[in-house]
Parts: sequence; C-alpha cells; structure tokens
Amino acid sequence: GGGGHNRSGSIARNGTHTKDDSDTYSNGIQVIDENKEFTPYLPAYLTAQNLITAGFSYHVVAVFGSQSTGKSTLLNHLFGTHFSVMDEQARRQTTKGIWMSRAVEDTKKPDPRAMGNNILVMDVEGTDGRERGEDQDFERKSALFALATSEVLIVNIWEHQVGLYQGANMGLLKTVFEVNLGLFLKDRSTTHRSLLFFVIRDHIGHTPLQNLSNTLMQDLNRIWSSLSKPPGLEDSKINDFFDFEFVALPHKILQPEKFVEETQKLRKRFREGVSPEVEVMNGSNGVGQRGDGGIFLPAYHRRIPADGFPHYASGVWTQIITNKDLDLPSQQELLAQYRCDEIAATCTAGFNEIMSPFEEQAKKTGGESGGRYHKGVFERKREDLRENLEGRLRGLVVGQFSALSKRAVQEFTEEITGILKSANTSGQSASSNYDFAAVVNQTRSKVVDKFIAEASESYIPGAEWSNYENELTSLQAALDEIAARLRGEEMKRLVARLEKAIRSKLAEPVELEFRRMEDKEKGNLWDRVWKVWTETVGEGVEGFLTRAGSLNATEKERDIGAWKLRKKAWGVLKAKIEEEVMEGNILLKLRENFEDRFRYDEQGVPRVWKPADPIEQTYTAAREATLKLIPLISRIRLSTGAEPPLTEFLGDPPTDFEEDVDEMGIAKDEFEVLGEAKQVDLSTRFKRMADAVFVEAKRSTVSSVAE
Ligand code: GDP
Ligand code: MG
Repeated sequence: GGGGHNRSGSIARNGTHTKDDSDTYSNGIQVIDENKEFTPYLPAYLTAQNLITAGFSYHVVAVFGSQSTGKSTLLNHLFGTHFSVMDEQARRQTTKGIWMSRAVEDTKKPDPRAMGNNILVMDVEGTDGRERGEDQDFERKSALFALATSEVLIVNIWEHQVGLYQGANMGLLKTVFEVNLGLFLKDRSTTHRSLLFFVIRDHIGHTPLQNLSNTLMQDLNRIWSSLSKPPGLEDSKINDFFDFEFVALPHKILQPEKFVEETQKLRKRFREGVSPEVEVMNGSNGVGQRGDGGIFLPAYHRRIPADGFPHYASGVWTQIITNKDLDLPSQQELLAQYRCDEIAATCTAGFNEIMSPFEEQAKKTGGESGGRYHKGVFERKREDLRENLEGRLRGLVVGQFSALSKRAVQEFTEEITGILKSANTSGQSASSNYDFAAVVNQTRSKVVDKFIAEASESYIPGAEWSNYENELTSLQAALDEIAARLRGEEMKRLVARLEKAIRSKLAEPVELEFRRMEDKEKGNLWDRVWKVWTETVGEGVEGFLTRAGSLNATEKERDIGAWKLRKKAWGVLKAKIEEEVMEGNILLKLRENFEDRFRYDEQGVPRVWKPADPIEQTYTAAREATLKLIPLISRIRLSTGAEPPLTEFLGDPPTDFEEDVDEMGIAKDEFEVLGEAKQVDLSTRFKRMADAVFVEAKRSTVSSVAE
C-alpha cells in the first residue's frame, strides 16, 4: 500500500511521468493521505487515465464501512481495481486516508468511451468502531468529502451487523445523514441526491434480502427521525435526499465461486447506463427499489467537468479540513472562475505568441517593409501572403463551425433519446400524449439557435467564407435525418415489443385449440386458430398505430411497421404451430383424441368392456376417426377447404424498405405443417400406440371374464 504511494509521489515529483509508467498508479492514487494532505497529482492521474477530457461523462462512487469488512476486496471485484487488501497474516489496516482508482474499462462494451466505462472509485478508510475521537473526526470529514463528490455511496456491512442499531455502522450513517443535511442547507437550488447502495456481506441466506433491507430501512428511518433538523427541513424525509438499494453477497471464503459470480453480476450493473426500465420508487415503507437495470441516475451527478474535478475536490477538502462550512454552490462558482481563467490564459498565451512578432514589426517599420521593392512583385507577394494567412484563418473558422455543428448534433441526439426513453418508462397512457414532432421541432430550433449565435461570432467582415450558411444548411439536414432515424429505431423497438406481446397472448389459446382439435360448433381447428390469430394481431396492430401516431410517424412508416408486425406475428404463429406438432406433443394429442373415442362412450362415461361388446368395431372406428385428423393437421386449411386469406390479411408488402426483405417474403408452401414423410411416420407411430391400447383393453375383458 504505502509503496504505491511513495512511488507515485516520487515519479510524479520528478516530472517524468509518462503514459508508459502505467503501473505507477497500479494501486490507484492516494487522494488524501494519512496526514490529511490532498494530493497534487490528481490532474496527472486523470490525464494518464484519459479521463481529463471526459466532460460530464464519468461517474464517481465511494465505499464506506468499518475497518476490515472487505471493502477494498469488494471494489477490486466490482471495478477491477487493485486497492490493497489486508494481508491475512499481518491483519493490520491497509487503507489509509482515501484512495481513488479508475475502474477497469469494460472493453466488451461497444463504445469504450461510454460513460459506464468512466468510473472513478474511492476507497475510504474505515474506522474500527472502537476508537473514537481522532478517528471519528476523520470519518466525518471523509463522509462529507465523499458526499460532495460521489454519486453513489456503497455502504459495506456484515449480515450479522444488520439490526444492530447501536453498531458502528449506524454511527457512520448518522454522520452521513447529518453531514448531508448540512450540505443541503447551503445547496437548496440544486437537488442534491445520492444513492446509498448497501452491500450486505457474508449473507448466509437464512434471512431473505427483503427482510434484511426492511430491517435496515427501519433503522435508517429511526436514525433520521432522531436527528435534529435545521429550520425549514423539520419535516423532510430521508427519501428526499437519498435513494436506497440493497444487495447481498455470499461469503467470499466459504463460497468463493458464488462470491465471484454475484460480484460479476453487480459489476455489469455498475457499467450499464440508465435503462428505461429503471425506476426509483420511494414507496411508503421508504424502501427504494428499482429494476435490474443500471445504477447511476442523472440526478446523482455532481456536474463537475472532469478537467475541473481535481481542483473542485481539493477545494472541497480544504474547506472541510479547515472546519469551514462547506458550501457547494460557491465551491462550484470558485471552480468555474479558476478553470475559466486558466482556459482563457492558455488561449491568450497562444494568441500573444502569434501576435507579438507582428506588433514588434509594426513598431519598428511602421508598415510592410516589402513595399520598397519592385511594385509588381511586391503586390503579387503581398497577395500570396494574404491568401496564405487567410487560408490558415479559414481553416480555423471552418473547424469552429464544424465543431459547433457536431455539438448541436450531439445535444439534439441526447435530448431526443432522453425524451423517448422517459416516454417509454412512464407507461402507455402518458407516452401516447406527447407529440414527437413538437418535441423535435422545439429541440431542433433550440440547438440551431445556439449554433447561429455562436457561429456568427466567427464572422469576419469581408470574408465570404466566414459565413456559416452552408454549415447551417447541412446541420439542419443532419438533424432531420437523426430525428427520422431515432423515430425509425423507436418504431422498430415498438414492433419488437408488440411482437413479444402477441407471442405471449397467443400461446394459451392456440394450445387450447390443439387440445380441442375438433369442435363441431366452432369450425375446424384452423378456423379457430386463424380467428384467434387475426384477432390478437388486429389488437396488436391497433396498439402499434396509436403509438406510431404519437410519434408522428409518416403514413409510410406506419404502413411498413404495421405490415412488419403482421408478418412477424405470422412467424410467431408458425413457430407456435410447429411447437404443437412436435413429435411427442402431437402424438400425445392424437392419443388423447383416440382414447376419448375408444375408452369413453358418447356420454363421456368410461367403457367397461364385456366379452359381447363390439370391441374391434369400436376400435377401428375410433382409430380411423383419429387418423383422419392427421391430414387435417398437416395443412392449414379452413373448413371451406380454402387456405386462410393470409395475403389479404398481411396486405401488400410495402415497397423499398431496407432490411430483411428476404425473410419478409411469403414462402411458396406457407401452409404446410407436416410434410408427406412426416405424416406417414406419424400415422405409423399412432397406429402402433393405438394397437397397444387396444390389446390392453382386450386383455382387461379376458381377465374380467376369468374373475
Ligand atoms: P477493508 O479494510 O474493508 O478494505 O477490507 P479488506 O478488503 O482489506 O479485507 C479484509 C479481510 O477480509 C481480508 O483478509 C479479506 O481476505 C477478508 N475478506 C474480504 N472479503 C470477505 C468476505 O466477503 N467475507 C469474509 N468473511 N472475509 C472477507
Ligand atoms: Mg481497505
């Protein structure tokens, strides 16, 4: 542990740190050391980790808990970090102060620059719960620091500590709550929200997680009500500031494989973006629960650009350590001043470097010294020079335009995607209310206005090329294209969702019809299956059109979507039928059908055969009747003898839509269910089975005679 720190310190101090020193920070960086000093090397670390330019696209999580409860071990499993872990033999505390490390990138992700890959992890020194005083002071300070910087606080706790209201952990949580109330007092404008992510260790499994989390939640609420709250916040609830989540992990030593398995699951979740399924509920019992999706919510983000993070964090720490009231908004303001000054200074320095030779020159000669030479040559050369310089300038301006345009595209995409996502989360009723076209127009004019405002600043009078019109035209075209693409993707998702819904709605009724097989009143098997199918698909398509309407899809897009949905639903039905006629399945159904005829009389009463009964006749009749079903099953045909009007139902395939047209075509023998060979095979098997039933029946007559 200490070694890592010394090395990172000395190398960085020598100023020789390069990317090749990738193991310089192999244990991460000690942000705050045992003397409560804040490291000067955080910018170097973030630069080495390629995070300094990440903007807002990064996350921070911190861990809390008593000493030696496996915190560092947990982080290493979750984030692939190498925080030092207590040596089993020595059994002494290893984590001093606060360490930080970047989570290992999950390269399997399609976009390695995605936010889920930019996670900064903080390992916070725990107290051992016995020593108080100095220790407790540091605990409070580090809690404050973690709250001011992190989105998610992992609270690490043994299962057997749950319910120990007086235990060390509860003291810690009390501190966290108090400190957060203090922060909030100064920061009412921004909703300062965090996730407390409880990881219950060495979970034996006797007590279900739900019970453990209920107990913890009760304790947390008790702590909350025992706090004296500042004026104005007397009635505040714990859920006004925190979301809660609970997970349990098996014992690392006793169930090593399970431990790894569970931590890997968790590891994935930390890397997932906010999925539309995720919903944080603040239920009346106070237990926040969410789906199985991502962990980070936008509301937790502290909104500090990555390049400002080191300055912000160290400023926050200074405030804390000098026992000043921590005031986050003013910290953010100070940070903005500092960073903007710094950025402006860099720009000015570059500009000065370019300008000062000209200024010197102008002072010395009072003008272009070339003017004293041959007039023709001079003018030509002057023109060359002008073009040359202008070319450079032009490159700069054009680059600026395209950067602005890129940003506009990005903002537009993010906003529309976000709206689509939240519309999906908020359920059918709400989502059908919003007007996609209006939202697109609004967002479009917002980003376009911003583009115009900033691009016009680059206008140089007299220089035609510094006019942004062309760039604007292509930006607008790009935005329209994106809107169309996003809508298209949304429509595809919609079709997929509805296809799934149709599949599950269809399953039971089709199974039922296959069990009934014949039904004199309701037509033959296929009449009924066709009816169920068309009705279910009809409903699905209707749902699709409603939603597509609210997306403001064009008529053509709607046609395509509806057609695809119907076509896919046909595939769903075919798959279902295939399942029903699978060898074992269909044989079983034939057997049932046969037995109904053979072993039961017309009134459904089981037959008891007497020697005088026409047992052979009954058998043959029953067998033949059932055998007749095989050709019926083998082809989808209505009782009229015609094939179902599939082509009419599907409608004409829409022209010119790109993907999987092949798969979307209708096969030549669409209505065949069982081929010739399969039918013969099925008949043979069925007869064999029927024979066996017959022989058994015959035997029972003989034995009843013998009795
Ligand atoms: P920290 O002080 O909380 O960071 O704890 P460490 O990660 O350094 O681990 C402390 C000790 O607990 C080490 O000896 C680990 O091997 C051990 N340990 C880690 N995880 C678990 C666990 O899930 N269950 C048990 N029983 N021991 C663990
Ligand atoms: Mg540790």
